[in-house]
Amino acid sequence: MTQILSETYLDYSDILIRPKMGMNLNSRRDVNLQRIFKFKHGQIRTGLGVFNANMATVGNFTVAQKLLGSGMFATIHKHYTVNEIGDFIQNARHENVPLDNLFITIGLKNIDSEIQKLKELESKHNWTNPRNICIEAPNFYIPKALDALARVRAEFPDAVIMAGNIASGDICLKLLDYADIIKCGIGSGSACLTRKQTGCGTPMVSLILECADIAHSVNGHICADGGIVDIGDICKAFCLNSDFVMAGGIFAGTDEAAGDIIEKHYETSEVIDGHRVIQTKYFKRYYGMSSEYANNKFAGGMSDYKTSEGRELLIPYTGALDKILQDIRGGIASCCTYIGATSVKHLSKCATIIQVHNQLNKVFEKYSV
Ligand code: 5GP
Repeated sequence: MTQILSETYLDYSDILIRPKMGMNLNSRRDVNLQRIFKFKHGQIRTGLGVFNANMATVGNFTVAQKLLGSGMFATIHKHYTVNEIGDFIQNARHENVPLDNLFITIGLKNIDSEIQKLKELESKHNWTNPRNICIEAPNFYIPKALDALARVRAEFPDAVIMAGNIASGDICLKLLDYADIIKCGIGSGSACLTRKQTGCGTPMVSLILECADIAHSVNGHICADGGIVDIGDICKAFCLNSDFVMAGGIFAGTDEAAGDIIEKHYETSEVIDGHRVIQTKYFKRYYGMSSEYANNKFAGGMSDYKTSEGRELLIPYTGALDKILQDIRGGIASCCTYIGATSVKHLSKCATIIQVHNQLNKVFEKYSV
């Protein structure tokens, strides 16, 4: 019989972090944003656990370089060639960009050629320890995903491996036999259509709680992927015990995201000298990796057995990525001071989470400038 779990599964918009008395922190400057990650398979990395999504739009070199430069983690998408990645690594070394937290993404389609790609990166471009790999599949439940993960671990025993995506706790232990970080989140992304097209998915807050609990019991880590609408959601994910957060949409309108700025003109209702006033707005294209747009661009079109589980969006242009990165650092530091956490690591220990019906006052939203 089909079972219905009647407990309500919560998302970021269903909760808030309740401010409270704690350690005496007078300034956001006193907060330690760096965390030391000791991974299950032996490696150690240090940084602020925020990733850009491994998507063609925001998993590009320019976005990655900025995140790495500001002490965060970064992925680059799977469609770059070995030589392109090699050149990027060489230039980054030249410019003193720290590469310890850079994750190279590979897909599942042809795991032999993906392993070959990593081996070439190693031999031709000196991609040696520290090495980080992100094995990406929209649905990591398929048996071939676990096989691929096991193979990559066998080939690269000293790498940090992040694998996903999944959306339930039951699979975490299995994956952590080989992976260090489990990427959690199905259907929550802003360019995602999975929930519409398949009815499948798990709200992020409940998912993080479930997966973190299981992963941490065996010294594994998790990354909450997708659904970050505001920087406060990143704070919430950390408070809920997620070790890392991955986001795409919040970086997609920046100068550094792939693609040109798109200009659009709109006729307004205002009339001056008998002419309607034209307003100009600026956008950038953001598309899901399973969208028809991405399939046309990278896979020669949609296969006839698939439906598109991603969409193509024009989202408002937001300017320099540096500003958002500064806001992320500032937002997390401020969250720490509201609950008396001296470091990001301590957020989950200090947080009291409250379930709410109304998290934001949106009364003047349409007047914002
Ligand atoms: P966002 O931060 O924009 O809410 O979510 C980014 C995440 O959405 C990505 O890291 C990835 O997990 C997910 N994603 C990207 N493209 C697609 C897609 O085409 N379909 C689905 N279902 N998810 C996607």
